[in-house]
Amino acid sequence: MDISYILNELGEERANYFNAIAPPIIQTSNFKFNTVDDFREALADEYQGNLYSRGFNPTIDILRKKLAALDGAEDALVFGSGIAAVTIPVLALLSAGDEVICVENPYSWTIKLFNSFLPKFGVKTTFVDGSDTSAIEAAITPQTKLIYLESPNTFSFDVQDLEAIAAMAKANGIITMIDNSYCSPLYQQPIAYGIDLVAQSATKYLAGHSDVVAGVVTGKKELLKQIFEKEYMNIGASTAPQNAWLLLRSLRTLPIRLEKITANANKVIEYLERHPKVENVLHPFSKKSKQLDLAKKQMKACGGLFSITLKNPSLEKIEAFCNSLKHILMAVSWGGYESLIIPACAGISKADFDVNNPRHVLIRVYVGLEEPEYLINDLEQAFESI
Ligand SMILES: *Cc1c(COP(=O)(O)O)cnc(C)c1O
Repeated sequence: MDISYILNELGEERANYFNAIAPPIIQTSNFKFNTVDDFREALADEYQGNLYSRGFNPTIDILRKKLAALDGAEDALVFGSGIAAVTIPVLALLSAGDEVICVENPYSWTIKLFNSFLPKFGVKTTFVDGSDTSAIEAAITPQTKLIYLESPNTFSFDVQDLEAIAAMAKANGIITMIDNSYCSPLYQQPIAYGIDLVAQSATKYLAGHSDVVAGVVTGKKELLKQIFEKEYMNIGASTAPQNAWLLLRSLRTLPIRLEKITANANKVIEYLERHPKVENVLHPFSKKSKQLDLAKKQMKACGGLFSITLKNPSLEKIEAFCNSLKHILMAVSWGGYESLIIPACAGISKADFDVNNPRHVLIRVYVGLEEPEYLINDLEQAFESI
């Protein structure tokens, strides 16, 4: 499907709402029925249509159609957050006694899901180095139900071979799920490689304006219906029509935002790679990356997120550098218009900080829509302070 058609037309039945160009926010909790027969039919299968906005809602349905099409998927579910889009399908797919194989170093709350939430329900997770498909295969047991990927992850940008892992999982009757937030559907299409479920934090590139928290999962309709009918409805995972509307508005500019963010980031990366005070710039398309060929095979581009390490780092040096930035903001999240920085040390107590641990000295940078020269000037004056 043509991306211009998806973003401008798909799902938008304008004759149903006064031929308005912009879709309406259907701000309602419930929908009425004219006959008991109609009501009975709707109650028997809520996946069919509009009954109650904890399930589906017409504004959210427009968004579901577009998000499914962007991923080349049959259907999509929209969630109140990205982590709900990760947690709820995982809960839906597993029962006590089942096992999960998860790649090392996924998103922080994903680690908490597998390490402290699921053990309460008798589900065990094994973390495996995702760069080694044979290590994933070796970790499979008769209880393995799910292989969970995040390619690339969003701090060290390790990638996994999606095609090989999906084929190996299929041969073993195991479901595969990926967190595709880093790439978005524009830069990576996991379903085309055979991955079953694709989750994304819509808070990041899809929303893109640092004003909405939401999530999405795409995949086969049969699988999504199963997730919807139990855990999605029971946990109350849906998002508000207002947030769905903001996401629809954001999707109109997704390609142009990502194009500009990627071009900006490439210029900033070029500057950083030549800087005498920078030891390393980590991103999937780095010429130093051992996984460069694989990343280039399955990803179109990298977008705005990468990490750096300083030469001869120390806690004082990292803190002085970050504290000196005037325009690049220190905050969590990414994917919006504003450039951001997170030093990994901010998430570690001073007593636990280990300068020899390569993960502790990472400084994650997100390049937004500002002009690259503006950002480079800010970085340069911060380097001068150390
Ligand atoms: C932000 C993020 C999430 C969680 O999304 P929320 O919208 O914050 O709940 C999950 N995975 C990745 C890779 C993220 O960056």
